[in-house]
Amino acid sequence: MFKKVLVPIDLNEPAFAEQALLLALREVKDNGAELHMLTVVPGFTNSFVAAYFSEKDHNKAVKEIAQKLQDYSHKVMPAEVHPTLRVYEGSPAETIVNYIDSKEINLVIMPAHHRSKIDEFLLGSVSARVAERAKCSVLLLKKNK
Ligand code: ADP
Repeated sequence: MFKKVLVPIDLNEPAFAEQALLLALREVKDNGAELHMLTVVPGFTNSFVAAYFSEKDHNKAVKEIAQKLQDYSHKVMPAEVHPTLRVYEGSPAETIVNYIDSKEINLVIMPAHHRSKIDEFLLGSVSARVAERAKCSVLLLKKNK
């Protein structure tokens, strides 16, 4: 039913994504869907942050994050499943929405914190922004604190 499924991965909380990946795997196995895993590195595009890093350090950090995503994928995915793994830099919600549009993703599965309105206001919510702006279906998996 869904041809392309995206699970955005926050590498600070990898275990949080496991339930989302299990559901995505069902789409892969039962319906032959393509699985995409995307990690967004916030910060480097911010000129204040970028001023503290040389281009070499920056490239090294992005490579390390890409390796971390690959290691994570190898750990949680069955050997026969080969997801598309991508690392981008920028604002997580905006980058995820752009990725959905450009790759014509049909379903996004995201774990979401169960935050109070005030926490959401103070911390921002990637999942809420993606759900609001994505043109495709979005499945939010709520996790209690
Ligand atoms: P919430 O949106 O529930 O308040 P978060 O903002 O921490 O909580 O993010 C929830 C989900 O958003 C994560 O499980 C992940 O799918 C996605 N996400 C958050 N940050 C990133 C990131 N840097 N790269 C990719 N996905 C992210």
